[in-house]
Amino acid sequence: MAERTGKVLLYSGGMDSFALRHIWKPDVTLYVNLHTAYSEREISRLDDGVTVVDCPLLREFERPNKIIPLRNLFLTCIAAQFGNVIAIGATAGDRVRDKDFEFASRTSDLLSYIWRPDHWTEGKHIWIELPFKHLTKAQIVGEFIRAGGDASALATQSFSCYAPVDGNACGECKPCFRKWVAFKLNGVDIQPSSGDYIRRVILPQIESGIYGRKEEEQEILAAIAL
Ligand SMILES: [Zn+2]
Repeated sequence: MAERTGKVLLYSGGMDSFALRHIWKPDVTLYVNLHTAYSEREISRLDDGVTVVDCPLLREFERPNKIIPLRNLFLTCIAAQFGNVIAIGATAGDRVRDKDFEFASRTSDLLSYIWRPDHWTEGKHIWIELPFKHLTKAQIVGEFIRAGGDASALATQSFSCYAPVDGNACGECKPCFRKWVAFKLNGVDIQPSSGDYIRRVILPQIESGIYGRKEEEQEILAAIAL
């Protein structure tokens, strides 16, 4: 059997992977349905160009902070079935290890090792790329606009809220306020505004030193000063 090769984007429909799809131009845009609390809402917004794979086994390991240990290791193993260059929408603000360059390098090596020419395969080399890892979310919005992307489409068609209200973004969860900051710094006011939430909840965390993301903190402060 000829191995499937080409560019595969691990896609969630959130802002980062939505922008990456536009800029990186994958052959396969892959959504892995993990059946978490927010999967249904994510799936309802996917277009026909997205390939959906069902994978309910990780759901039971999701922690209250939404982290599933080893998530991206599992997802890259699934993505490798569809091609050999795999992109993950990791950003400068992501701190989990399965979104860093060390992870990308080691996992590329491991998957390429397993996929060496053998009795079952002609072999393929697998690369894992993190095209946005050097960028903050605000810089990603900027790149997207510079690449000819429609900022209002990125704002309205991407969705990553943890706690939607009547199907709409809440403005008061981590993905919501980070998205609001990213657009605000690019001169786009998205709704609902997260300004009050940031002043009330995030600002005290930054001031007491427990927020812990230096570059992003500067962006948050700049956004609420606008
Ligand atoms: Zn939200």
